[in-house]
Amino acid sequence: MFFFRSVSVIPRMPDRIARLGEISKNLWFSWNQQAENLFSYINDDLWREVGHNPVKFLIHINPEELERITGDSHFLAEYDWVVSEFDRYMNSISWFEESYPQYNNKAIAYFCAEFGFHESLPIYSGGLGILAGEHIKSASDQGLPMVGVGLLYKQGYFTQQIDFNGEQHAHYPNYNFREMPITPVTCENGSNLVVNVDFKDRLVYLKVWKVQVGRVSVYFLDADVTKNSEEDRKLTARLYGGDDENRIQQEIILGMGGVKALRAVGVKPMAYHLNEGHAAFSGLERLRELVQSGICASGARESIISNTLFTTHTPVLAGHDVFSYELVDKYLGHIYSQVGMTRNSFLNLGRDEEQGGFNMTFFALHLSSFSNGVSKIHGRVSKDMFHSLYPHLSVDETPIYSITNGIHVKTWVSQELSDLFTTYLKPDWEENMTDKDMWNNVYSIPDEKLWKKHQDCKESLVQFIRDKLQERICRSKEEENHIKEIQDYFRSDVLTIGFARRFTTYKRADLILRDKDRLARLMNDPKRPVQIMFSGKAHPDDEQGQNLIKEIYNISNEEPFKGKIVFIEDYDIDTARYMLQGVDVWLNNPRWPKEASGTSGMKAAANGVLHCSVPDGWWPEGFNGENGFIIGNTGDEGMNKIEQDTKDAEHIYHLLEKVIIPSFYNIDSEGIPGQWLHWMKNSIATLPVYFNTTRMVQEYTNRFYSSLLDRGIRLSSNNYVVADNIKNFKLYIEENWHQVAVNYVHSNGRTEMQQGEELKIEAGVNLGPINPRDVVAEITYGEVESNGLKNVMAVSMEMKGQDDAGHYHYSISVPLEEQGNIGYTVRVRPYNPEFAHQYELPLVAWAPDF
Ligand SMILES: *Cc1c(COP(=O)(O)O)cnc(C)c1O
Repeated sequence: MFFFRSVSVIPRMPDRIARLGEISKNLWFSWNQQAENLFSYINDDLWREVGHNPVKFLIHINPEELERITGDSHFLAEYDWVVSEFDRYMNSISWFEESYPQYNNKAIAYFCAEFGFHESLPIYSGGLGILAGEHIKSASDQGLPMVGVGLLYKQGYFTQQIDFNGEQHAHYPNYNFREMPITPVTCENGSNLVVNVDFKDRLVYLKVWKVQVGRVSVYFLDADVTKNSEEDRKLTARLYGGDDENRIQQEIILGMGGVKALRAVGVKPMAYHLNEGHAAFSGLERLRELVQSGICASGARESIISNTLFTTHTPVLAGHDVFSYELVDKYLGHIYSQVGMTRNSFLNLGRDEEQGGFNMTFFALHLSSFSNGVSKIHGRVSKDMFHSLYPHLSVDETPIYSITNGIHVKTWVSQELSDLFTTYLKPDWEENMTDKDMWNNVYSIPDEKLWKKHQDCKESLVQFIRDKLQERICRSKEEENHIKEIQDYFRSDVLTIGFARRFTTYKRADLILRDKDRLARLMNDPKRPVQIMFSGKAHPDDEQGQNLIKEIYNISNEEPFKGKIVFIEDYDIDTARYMLQGVDVWLNNPRWPKEASGTSGMKAAANGVLHCSVPDGWWPEGFNGENGFIIGNTGDEGMNKIEQDTKDAEHIYHLLEKVIIPSFYNIDSEGIPGQWLHWMKNSIATLPVYFNTTRMVQEYTNRFYSSLLDRGIRLSSNNYVVADNIKNFKLYIEENWHQVAVNYVHSNGRTEMQQGEELKIEAGVNLGPINPRDVVAEITYGEVESNGLKNVMAVSMEMKGQDDAGHYHYSISVPLEEQGNIGYTVRVRPYNPEFAHQYELPLVAWAPDF
C-alpha cells in the first residue's frame, strides 16, 4: 500500500456560469427546485444517471456542453435568477438575529448519528436522519448560529434489492465522497484535518468533512483514514450495521470525536443539542476537557448539564442503546479517572438495573438540563418510561417535555403545488410558513386547477413506478418478457394508496391485507378501483420485517392484485418525494403507542394527500375531523395485539368502503370530486401551518436554546464560579435532605366545599440546617384519578415564621374555582434561581398522610 492525495478534476467552468460549482456544493439546492433544474436542463440523462448529484454531474459533464449552454439565453436567465435567490438567502436578516441579537455568533451544536438532506448524500436510514436534516435546513432559514456534527458512513445504511422470490438483498456500495456535495476540511498546509479518539489500547484517527446546508455547516467524522488499522478504517462504514461493540465505538467517535472536531475547526458552542442518545458521549469529552483544565469534576458536570438539551425519539424500550458494563470499561475505563470519577460513579450515570447495562438514554438524561419527546403523546409516554429516574416526582411532573416534529415544507411540496402556492397564497409563501391567513388562501385555488396539478403529480408517479419496475426486471434476463406487461401497471385515474416506511412488525405493513377477499373485491370494482403502492427497507437483521416485504411482494405478483399492488425497491428521499406528491391517501397504521411522531404523513398533508392514520404520534394533534382520516380510537392500549389488529383492519376497510372510495369517485360533470378537493384543501390549510420545522426550530429556540445559551455563557464565565456555586448548593442540599420533612398539615377538614370558597391550608416544615431561602413549600393539587393526580398545579406557600421547636410555619388560601373532585397535598422542594427548571434537582419531601 502506498499513500496518495487525490484531487477532483472538473471541467473548466465558463466564467459566465462560474457559480454553478458553488451551488453544487451547498445543499440549499436540495430545497430549491429551480437550482436542480439548472443541471437537468444542461443534460437530463446525465442528471438522472448521477442520481441528482450536482457535484458528480459537474465532474462528468462534457465541457462542450457547458460552453454551449452559455449561449442559451433561457438558461442564463434561469441561472441568474437562481444565483440572485441564493445570494439573497445567504445574506438576508434572519428571525434569530432579530429575536435574539444578544446570542449572535454564540454557536449551538447539534449532534445526530444520521442526517438526511438529499438523495445524493445517502448517509441516513429514515425518520431520525430526515428530521435532523430538516432541523438543520430550518436552522439555516431562521439564521440560528448552529453547527451540526455527524458520522460519515462509507457504505451508508444499505441499498435494497428484492429478488424474484421476494427476498431482500442488502448491498453496500463504497461511496466516493469526492464526488458528493461534501468537502474535506483541510489545514493550512493543505493536508486533511484529522482528530483522534483514545480507545485505551490505541488511537483512532478521524478525518473531518463538511457539508454546507445554506448558512449552516455540518461536520462529519470518517474513520477511513490510512493511519488507522484495516479494522478501524471500517468503524464508520455502516449506519446501524454492526454489533454492540461497533456501535459503542461509533458513539464514542460521534460524541467525543465530534467535540474534538468542533474544537479543531475553532467552534466553541455555548449550547448543545443531543438528538437521540447516540451522541451522549459528547458530554464525556466536554467533562474531560474541563477537568483536565483544572475545574473540579462535579463543577464541570454542572456546567455541562446547564447548557445541554436531549431529545428522545423512541417509545420502544429496545430502541434505546444499552451497553454491557464490560464494553463500557473496555473503551472508556481509562477515561473515568481523567474526568475525576470512580468507575462506580461514572457507571451510575447510565446504570439501568432492569436491562442490566449502561443505558445511553439514562446517560443523556443525567447530563442535560432539558429533555423532550417529539409529540404530545410521546412526551407523555416518555414520562412513564423514564419516571424511575425521578422517583420523588409524580409521573405527570417528570421533567420530560415535548416539541412536536415538523417537516421542511419546501423540501417536500411538489413543484406543481408550489407554483399554485406562489400564485394563490403568497409569492414568498415559504417564508411565511406559520401564517394561518396565508394558508387559508388555499381555498381560493379553483378546484380544477388543484385537481389538475395533483393529477400531474400522479402521472409522474405512475411513470416513476413503471421505470423502477422495468429497471429491476432488466437485472434479470429471464424476466424480460414482463417488460411490456409493466407498461400497463398502475394507472393515474385510479384511487391510489401509499404506504412506505421502515418494515418492522409494529408498523403493520400487512394490516390492509388481512382480509384478502374483501380487499380484492374493493380493488377490482370496475367502476371504482383502488391500487396500493408499497416501499420500505427492513433492517438486514430483522427477519420478520423481511418476511413482511416478501409477503407483499408475493401478493403483488398474484392475481387479482397483479399490477394493482406494487412494491418499489430501495425507499429513499427520491422515492418518497414521488410517492408523497402523487398518491391520494397516505396510510399509517403502527401499533399504538409506538410511533414517537412520524413525519411522512406531514409531507403527504402538505401536498393535499389525505393522511389516513391511527391516532398515534403527531396525528391526534393535527386531525380535526375534516382534513384526513382516523383509524380506531386512542385508548385502545388495553387491547392485545390480535384484538387491536383485527379492529384496526376492520376500520380501514370500513373507511375505504364507506368514506374514501365513494368520495373520491363522486365526480361532477367536469370530472371534479368536490368533496375530495375540499378535504385536500382542508389538509393544506390546516396541517403544514403547524407541522413544519420553522415552527419547530423556533419552539426549540424559544423554550430551550435561549435558556441554554444564557446558562452556557453565565456558567462558563468567571472561571466557572456559578457552576461551582450550583455544585456546592446541590451537594449541601443532597447531604441534608433527609432532615427535611413536612411535620403537619392543617386544613379545615371538610370533605365538601362550594365553588368559590377558599381552602385554607397551614403546614409546619422541618428543614434541618437548610435555609428556608433555598426551598419552596407548596400546595400541589389536581383532579383525582385512579392512579394519582392529573393536571397537577403547584402554588407556593408563604412562610410565616418559625415556632419554638424550630419548625417553619407556612400558609396559603386557594380559591376553589373548578368543580370536581380535587386532591391536594403539601410538599417541599429545593429552589435555586440558577436552575434551568424547578426539577433540576429532583428532590421532594411530601407531606405524610394527614
Ligand atoms: C419522511 C421519511 C421517513 C420518515 O417517515 P415516517 O413517517 O417516520 O415513517 C423515512 N424515510 C424517508 C425516505 C422519508 O422521506
